Amino acid sequence: MTPILAIHGGAGTMPPGSMTPDAERAHRVGLHRALMAGHAILAVGGPALDAVTAAVAALEDDPLFNAGHGAVLTRGGRHEMDAAVMDGATLAVGAVAGICGPRNPIWAARVVMERSPHVLLAGPGALEFLRAQGVAFAEPEYFDTARRRDTLRAMLAAEAEGSPNIDDADRHGTVGAVALDAAGRLAAATSTGGMTGKLPGRVGDTPVPGAGTWADAACAVSATGHGESFSRIAAGHEVSARMRLAGDDLDTATAVAMAALEAVGGTGGLLAVDRAGRVALPFNTRGMYRGVVDADGAARTGLYRGPLQQYSAGE
Ligand code: ASP
Repeated sequence: MTPILAIHGGAGTMPPGSMTPDAERAHRVGLHRALMAGHAILAVGGPALDAVTAAVAALEDDPLFNAGHGAVLTRGGRHEMDAAVMDGATLAVGAVAGICGPRNPIWAARVVMERSPHVLLAGPGALEFLRAQGVAFAEPEYFDTARRRDTLRAMLAAEAEGSPNIDDADRHGTVGAVALDAAGRLAAATSTGGMTGKLPGRVGDTPVPGAGTWADAACAVSATGHGESFSRIAAGHEVSARMRLAGDDLDTATAVAMAALEAVGGTGGLLAVDRAGRVALPFNTRGMYRGVVDADGAARTGLYRGPLQQYSAGE
């Protein structure tokens, strides 16, 4: 099997032309770094599960993306992060919801998967368990960035004035990865700060298996966008169900899921790979930060609509 890895850094980019060339480059560099982190594992025959975890951890470490360092804030000005990882070969899945503590929420999800008898942990009990497992923690300030504070302030001010619209790119994000490894195993991982100004306690689609994250023998899926809409249509599972039960190919299955998303008024995008290594990256927003790396290490990234562009380090 020829391994492949695809990632997203969130749907809902700035309008083309409104980002400075430096900002565009910084996003492409961040995507490329994450692709390479995952590719290094796949290239030596490593598991898809490790590749998606490593790629998502790299995006969590990058403050440009809404996960880990640089996560968006709740209405109360705090970080409440969600993450999930799923192994398509075994249907093992681990997730965390509404947490602030573990430096890399995706590793926290992985520890829940591998070292607890549960699928999803939240609240003080989650943090207690993760600390006891030796997961690396960071102070709340680590996750904080001036940009996300400004966005929250602008959003609350706009709401107070009765014009609550702020740009998609600042409102949400999410990072995710899907991969097929040389042994034919599929895996998916997703991590997010959620939506700017969300109610404290709100949990989106990201950590819900079958909604924002899914992997089985047919496909691996990671979603980004308006989480409530993705949850309502069980987006990740819907793609798999279409393939397994309706005989759809990956493009058709993801297109049907996107249509279902639109039928409930949802915006965002999907990242999916099937067991033949085909990749689909549909979205209904202006853009979606995204990238794909093939078995030979050739990386392509994209920010807006249109074909992905070749990317080489140092560009
Ligand atoms: N899906 C995420 C959530 O609703 C946010 C996003 O992807 O933009 O929490």
